[in-house]
Amino acid sequence: MQGIYLDHAATTPIRPEVRQAMEPYLADIYANASSIYRQAQQARAAIDAARDTVAACLRARPSEVVFTSGGTESDNAALRGAAFAGQERGRHLVTTAIEHHAVLHTMEDLAARYGFELSVVKVPRDGIVRVSDIADALRPDTVLVSVMWANNEIGTIQPIAEIASLVRNAGAVFHVDAVQAAGAIPIDLSTLPVDLLSLSAHKFYGPKGSGVLFVRDGTPWWPTQSGGAQERERRAGTENVAGIVGLARALELAQVDRDEESERLSQLRDFVLTDLERRIEGTVVNGDRERRLPNNLNVSFDGVHGESLLVGLDLAGIMASSGSACTSGSLEPSHVLQAIGVPRDLAQASLRLTLGRCTTRGEAETALDVLDGLVRRLRSVSLAHA
Ligand code: PLP
Repeated sequence: MQGIYLDHAATTPIRPEVRQAMEPYLADIYANASSIYRQAQQARAAIDAARDTVAACLRARPSEVVFTSGGTESDNAALRGAAFAGQERGRHLVTTAIEHHAVLHTMEDLAARYGFELSVVKVPRDGIVRVSDIADALRPDTVLVSVMWANNEIGTIQPIAEIASLVRNAGAVFHVDAVQAAGAIPIDLSTLPVDLLSLSAHKFYGPKGSGVLFVRDGTPWWPTQSGGAQERERRAGTENVAGIVGLARALELAQVDRDEESERLSQLRDFVLTDLERRIEGTVVNGDRERRLPNNLNVSFDGVHGESLLVGLDLAGIMASSGSACTSGSLEPSHVLQAIGVPRDLAQASLRLTLGRCTTRGEAETALDVLDGLVRRLRSVSLAHA
């Protein structure tokens, strides 16, 4: 793609090694993995191998890996499945105000249409969920708690291990949306008491439309999609073999140089932030400065409308985002920024820059020059109209 791509939280390009691994399953090996002839058995073997790889990367059992069509499906399946399976024990659900809509809207739907009661835990200005606030929200009839590992807009990283222990001791099921965390943060499900966890391949240089739902053996959870017996009757539908193979390869590759890449990205991100703050007065960072994904920078520029900034950046060949991709185009400021108490005008002035494997220092410098000029221009235009 031409231009400077600074929107890796929205999606990432497929790595060449991943595309190469997928290739045979988009060409010759197209048989349905459920058929019995040899070609179909090749597809089945590829799915089995991918399951083993994903399980090894997450330190889970292969039987706990369910392939899905992505993060949204994994979140829906996790929450609906655990809520329905747990409804005899209790009907209280807990989540936080900064979740992705795939979680938030699913929880709200369970409350609005299926008689569950939902507590949405508030999150302070630093974008970090307080363990004590989750503890306060728990009740004897709480059956399910869902907290994201890393936020997709402001990149803040949540204290998942502590929340997991708390929820486990309270006897509720714990779901984690790890869609933004996977690839950047090590995930060890052999020690972490998480019951359900969602992943999406296109966030870690794999293909779109391919995800994982981890379901710990023994978790009270019902499949919500009916049809064929695929995925041991936990996710009906003909398997997306190429997508599954690509997801496994991408996850495997992400482990290889994760620490070096995270270090490189956080240094580059900090360089961008330091330079922005030096050059542009009224630069405000949204979310905690330290406890955030290494590639995420979310800033507001006082007096500048985020959408105008995005259009200006686009004209200069720079791709970025304000809030999450799912809400851009809507005039409402991001629900995450509103939830953490960013004033409306600053929330509407936000810009999310998310760096990636291919982002160079030169690209960052070009983006900084363009941004500096744009913010000055937009501010002088709004002054002229004031
Ligand atoms: N959860 C989080 C935190 C996300 O960032 C996203 C995508 O932006 C999703 C869920 C949805 O994933 P998908 O695009 O694979 O449906």
